[in-house]
Amino acid sequence: MADSILIKNGYVYDPINNINGETLDISIKDRKIVEKASADAEVIDASNMIVMPGAIDIHTHISSQTVNFGRMFTKPPSQPLYTTSQIGQEYIKQGYTLFIEAAVAAHLARHTHLEFQDIPFIDKAFLVLVGSDSHVMDFLKKDRIEECAAYLSWLLKSVKGYGLKLANPGGAEMWAWGKDTDSLEKQILGYDLNPLDIVTGLVRVNELLNLPHSIHIHPNQAGRPGNIDTTIETLESIQDIEKSSQVRRNQLIHIAHAQLHSYGGQDWENFESKSQTIVDYVNTHEQVELDIGQITFHTSTAIFPDGAYAYYLAKMANSRWISNNIELEGNFGAITLNFSPEHYIDAIKWTIGLEIALQVTNPWQVQLSTDHPNMGLVTDYPKVISWLISKLARDEIVDTLHPDVQNNAILPHLEREYSLHEIAIITRASQAKSLGLDIQRGHLGIGAVADVVVYNFDPKANDPSKEYKLLEKAFSHAEYVIKQGNPIIKKRIIDPNVFTGSTLWVDAKVNEDLGNKTLENLERKLERYSSINTPNLYVDSSYLKNSEKIMIQSNL
Ligand SMILES: [Zn+2]
Repeated sequence: MADSILIKNGYVYDPINNINGETLDISIKDRKIVEKASADAEVIDASNMIVMPGAIDIHTHISSQTVNFGRMFTKPPSQPLYTTSQIGQEYIKQGYTLFIEAAVAAHLARHTHLEFQDIPFIDKAFLVLVGSDSHVMDFLKKDRIEECAAYLSWLLKSVKGYGLKLANPGGAEMWAWGKDTDSLEKQILGYDLNPLDIVTGLVRVNELLNLPHSIHIHPNQAGRPGNIDTTIETLESIQDIEKSSQVRRNQLIHIAHAQLHSYGGQDWENFESKSQTIVDYVNTHEQVELDIGQITFHTSTAIFPDGAYAYYLAKMANSRWISNNIELEGNFGAITLNFSPEHYIDAIKWTIGLEIALQVTNPWQVQLSTDHPNMGLVTDYPKVISWLISKLARDEIVDTLHPDVQNNAILPHLEREYSLHEIAIITRASQAKSLGLDIQRGHLGIGAVADVVVYNFDPKANDPSKEYKLLEKAFSHAEYVIKQGNPIIKKRIIDPNVFTGSTLWVDAKVNEDLGNKTLENLERKLERYSSINTPNLYVDSSYLKNSEKIMIQSNL
């Protein structure tokens, strides 16, 4: 491993530091970006190439028990879900240096950490599912917000998680009764509260704890016609909640895979895109951000932390599915999905993700995602980038869509093409900011972790909008990737010496009395009602190969 590296003469795109394609040298020493490299530094000639910070995937599903059930369920023509080693390779090849596994049930966290240990190259973190957590719902129904916050501070610290995820709030509890949350005002069975109470309560908790990332939500009614009303109602419910002044992020809420939550119509007969509605909302509410959940046309094994939705899909397609209910905290379902451009509904869904990305005016409120492996695969990212950067690339697909979609969708009329600077925002800078990591990651300023990517594409000699195929190829396999100062890819060859990245997790301190009292009550409750107790939930640091603890002082 070289102690110091000098990346010379690249066209640098570093939005956090307002650098837009300038020719600059990047110096690395002791795993960090520095002012000046050592005299004997290894030199990488990046002339006529793009240099960017490492990319960040803010919403993916690659290592959890859910993924294992998906692996078991998958069958041709679905591509098998990746092994841990393949995941690391596929991400690093594209210049990704951090991913967020977006749905881990608390007492299965140990399994996720074991898989994390085995994923090479890349840094990782996960979000813990809390939207149907029985303790959370007990606290919220009694408006015991501070105890709820103390419990979640303890939970995050115990499972070594990074943030809080809500998937179909209240849905796992309803699904345990064979039902779904079909209205935001309907009470969750057995609890004197409804899905909106869970959303607003957990947003308040998140801000009390000063967590680096906001609440990350997969709203209710995922994938159903007309669900745009549910999505907007969810967003409106938190309008009066103040963001903590102690956090670095801009948003109060992150909407996951927005494509899946922006549907109009009453049923599949009159299904339509409501991209404009969510775009109008985001464009007028800076506290909201989203990842797009772009569909690519492929056959996938889809895995959702939302059993009711997977069941709905299975019933609709009259197909097999698999489900797993996890004690009190969550559930999931896996099903094979096939997206085809000739299929009317699929074609509309494809347009929705791109319409959202192209119409939200502030790219800092948008993040690239395919909700891997659900809407598309991680390997599809370069293709999605080509659709955003080139109308020509989009038109090529539009020509293959169901004719009614070609004629009626707004996408063919959208002229916007992302710049490389904007691509750098929606693939790394916006994510770093959203995760509260923009001091350490997602940029190339002095002191940042040295995660640097060099793509072999000359933006001065080639117009990305015309040469989108070249760009797609360059982004599919980076020329160089430096991870925490280690050259992992050199001249497109991956270093066979496996380097394991860090696992990031959050320790949000609350006052000791509150913390102790909450934990004692929790232990008593678990002893009485549950088959597990707090030691089952506690993951020792020894399960983390390279632990990176982020200390937070909460407001409690
Ligand atoms: Zn997801």
